[in-house]
Amino acid sequence: MTTSHTNGAPVANGFAHPVAQKIAELDASKVVVNLTQNLKTVPPVEDLVFGQTTSDHMVMVSYNPITGWGTPEIKPYGPISLDPSCSVFQYSTSVFEGMKAYVGPDGTPRLFRPEMNMARMKRSVARIALPAFDTAELLKLIKKLVAIEARWIPNVKGHSLYLRPTIIGTRPSIGVHASDHAILYVICCPTGPYFRTGPKPVSLYAVGEQVRSWPGGTGEFKLSLNYAPTFYPAQLAAEKGYDQCLWLLGQDQHVTEAGAMNFFAVVKRDDGDLDVMTPPLDGTILPGLTRASVIALVSAHPNDILLPHLPPAQKLHVHERLITMADLFAWSDAGTLAEIFLVGTAAVVAAVGRVGFEARELEAPRHEGGLGPVAKALFDRLTDIQEGKFEFQGWCVPIDA
Ligand SMILES: *Cc1c(COP(=O)(O)O)cnc(C)c1O
Repeated sequence: MTTSHTNGAPVANGFAHPVAQKIAELDASKVVVNLTQNLKTVPPVEDLVFGQTTSDHMVMVSYNPITGWGTPEIKPYGPISLDPSCSVFQYSTSVFEGMKAYVGPDGTPRLFRPEMNMARMKRSVARIALPAFDTAELLKLIKKLVAIEARWIPNVKGHSLYLRPTIIGTRPSIGVHASDHAILYVICCPTGPYFRTGPKPVSLYAVGEQVRSWPGGTGEFKLSLNYAPTFYPAQLAAEKGYDQCLWLLGQDQHVTEAGAMNFFAVVKRDDGDLDVMTPPLDGTILPGLTRASVIALVSAHPNDILLPHLPPAQKLHVHERLITMADLFAWSDAGTLAEIFLVGTAAVVAAVGRVGFEARELEAPRHEGGLGPVAKALFDRLTDIQEGKFEFQGWCVPIDA
């Protein structure tokens, strides 16, 4: 039997390293709530800029390979202290989610399809070998945090509390390995409408040289490492006078996404119906839950639910298919391109006004008030569901205080 000596005292090997100990799972019922003594002043809604104001509290829980998931805490929002060598700084072991808490006219906070965010987070975490956790427990912690932060959800149409669940690898070593230490946390930012001046159409610059994602890559996961490489092309697009990049891929220059939103085109058919098209989930596309919700709502119209403002006789056909730049120009030249719009949690639905591509410029049809009829119908229906004014398939989950 070997012994080691600490401060001169013999320590039996195996005694100092209790290998038989069971690793703890994430358990929301153990949460310790430590409320701040200094509540912040909630800024007036008209002063809110996306992502710039954080609420009073955050969820935080750590994982280490010996004991597993620790005691979850809800505690005052504040800095985290980390070893400079740790995994997230060196190897970008970081996953995030973007979701919102809404409050409707009845004052009850709600989440929109949160189990989809949890399922996606689980897949992202697995992709970069961060420690797994029970996402149902994380959702309980998120609900508890939202209930505590309810005064931060502006009770004004189009406003919400943006939630940013995050997990980072905190293994303190520059060795190139999976991180077996992690911190999971959730922060909240009150937000107003993404486009404060109303739904102003965005302009896109089509980029094929720097790609956002590629077959076999990580584009379908919400990994932080997917975003940093998009900032430089976005800067070039901004210098050319465009709001965001349209991310192309392949010899055929097909569209994947734009900015950090999913892409849709609406095209008129000979029979008067409309084709609503979006690229298929082939591994290069982030599977947005707004995208999935748009597909479900368009598929349900007009038989199961009527989308607002659209004529009941207007038939819509969803297609998940490749869309090339050549397709977009061909539809535009033929006069059948009706709308281009982008979807995602932050802006919900945003109209696209023009697309710059090499030396050419594609003008999407302009619509009174910014959004075209299909985009407008989807925006109104989605925001009504989110604020609890319209019930659809249990998408909206109320939070009991
Ligand atoms: C988050 C995100 C989206 C939108 O996803 P939602 O779940 O609808 O918010 C689309 N594309 C990218 C690249 C994203 O990161």
